[in-house]
Amino acid sequence: MTRAPLKTVCIVGGGTAGWIAAALIAHLHPDLSVELVESDDIGTIGVGESTIPPFIQLLHLLGVNESEFIAECQASYKLGIEFRDWHHVGERYFHPFGAIGTPMTHADFYQLWLRAVADGYTGALMDFAPAAVMAREGRFTPAFMALRTPIGGAAYALHVDAKRVARFLRHYAEERGVVRTEGIVTDVALRPDGFVDRIVLSDGRQVAAEFFIDCSGFRAILAGKALGGAFDDWGEWLLCDRAIAVQTENVGPPSPYTLAEAQPAGWRWRIPLQHRTGNGHVFSSRHMSDDEATAILLDKVEGELVTQPMPVAFRTGVRFRPWDRNVLAVGLAAGFIEPLESTAIHLIYRGIEYFLRFLPTTACERELADEYNRRMVTDYTEIRDFIVLHYCLTQRDDTPFWRAYRDMTPPEGLARRIALFRAAGLIPEGVDELFRAVSWQSVMEGMGVRPARHHASADRMAIDDLPRELDIARSTLSRYVATVPSHGDFIARHVAAA
Ligand code: FAD
Repeated sequence: MTRAPLKTVCIVGGGTAGWIAAALIAHLHPDLSVELVESDDIGTIGVGESTIPPFIQLLHLLGVNESEFIAECQASYKLGIEFRDWHHVGERYFHPFGAIGTPMTHADFYQLWLRAVADGYTGALMDFAPAAVMAREGRFTPAFMALRTPIGGAAYALHVDAKRVARFLRHYAEERGVVRTEGIVTDVALRPDGFVDRIVLSDGRQVAAEFFIDCSGFRAILAGKALGGAFDDWGEWLLCDRAIAVQTENVGPPSPYTLAEAQPAGWRWRIPLQHRTGNGHVFSSRHMSDDEATAILLDKVEGELVTQPMPVAFRTGVRFRPWDRNVLAVGLAAGFIEPLESTAIHLIYRGIEYFLRFLPTTACERELADEYNRRMVTDYTEIRDFIVLHYCLTQRDDTPFWRAYRDMTPPEGLARRIALFRAAGLIPEGVDELFRAVSWQSVMEGMGVRPARHHASADRMAIDDLPRELDIARSTLSRYVATVPSHGDFIARHVAAA
């Protein structure tokens, strides 16, 4: 087996995954020759429009001008997610991006707040989260434009038009030398050692490469069909397996957050862009038919339909070995967790970023693949547990779907986390973990879990009058947010003008 530096990479698929992979490789490894094969006849999945803050890092890493990107992709800003009806029908909570609480002291703000609440304080936790307060008021300014202010701890992401993102990144990658080949892959030829040698297109053309990145979506034509990579199915914990998606005209200025509203057998999303709104209904086909799910969605959406309702089937889980021999599966070809916390595009970025950190030689060293797979599967598992958290704490018992979740035994690691939080308000944070303590605190609180006690460090803080200090912090934040432009005005002033 030769150990020469990699020179040629073939990416199969030109959805969000394929073009993010192409853009990152072209930018960070211009020495690699990259060919991307995709088929306009097959098309892309076309959903995937809500992102999380690392997406902004991806744009910066690529050296993309954020305002230009926002203008081209008709993007709007996202400060978090509003969850409606998940704990009980009629209740809502917010999962904000960025910090909760001003750094009043060196103690964890949540612990101080718990201490105050134990003494009868009634201010809501989200009144201290800059992103949540801006979202509630429909206002927006990025923290980097207001660093030493009460909103300095907020973070943000974007709502994007998926088709325009793929187009934007395609242009970016092609300008940097990526070659796009139009064609349908019909066959995959293996070498005697089981590595992929080349792909064969329907018109007989062949594309050979030293390394292949499978971005062919749920078809997984290399990682799944050709190599037979096994899939760890998580349908036991995540019951939803279908979605209906539809686009509508906007009925007002876009809100700076994603809406996730629970439904009888799943939930619906509303993702507001500048030029239209993306809507979808994610549901469990064991509990609801496509027709019922479509009727519920159409009953809830506002604005005229821009597209007809489109059903999407999906399977939840991840390949045991996303990197197998000389094939790396990325995006839907690697795995999928339902889009409740908008994590799929992030996992694409993460997958390529790790791969480039581990860049193999032509020998595709097994040790690198093993470590890559360990880390990526851990990421998927941590995200899976965070998503299950949103469901398994429900108190709803109004439908078989919600009763199934209420009675579910959560995955072991999640059960341990919930128990630890209940006992002492603690969240064990892995170094590389995507969702940090504030995210877990937001969802636990939103789903009605209040720790039995606060941490002793909060008692040791010398604060003469904690409720008064908290009230000052809360009103300072609220007053500041009132001076911030509306989300629509911010886009008009800073983006449309760019
Ligand atoms: P696809 O978009 O399916 O692209 C596959 C590509 O492979 C296409 O170019 C296709 O032409 C090509 N291809 C396939 N077979 C062949 C062949 N034989 N020959 C040649 N080319 C071929 N993610 C988020 O981050 N946020 C969200 O809000 C979000 N919402 C979602 C909602 C739903 C209902 C679903 C199902 C997913 C959602 N996702 C979301 C995930 C997101 O859509 C995907 O992660 C993202 O679009 C990447 O998809 P992909 O590129 O892997 O696959």
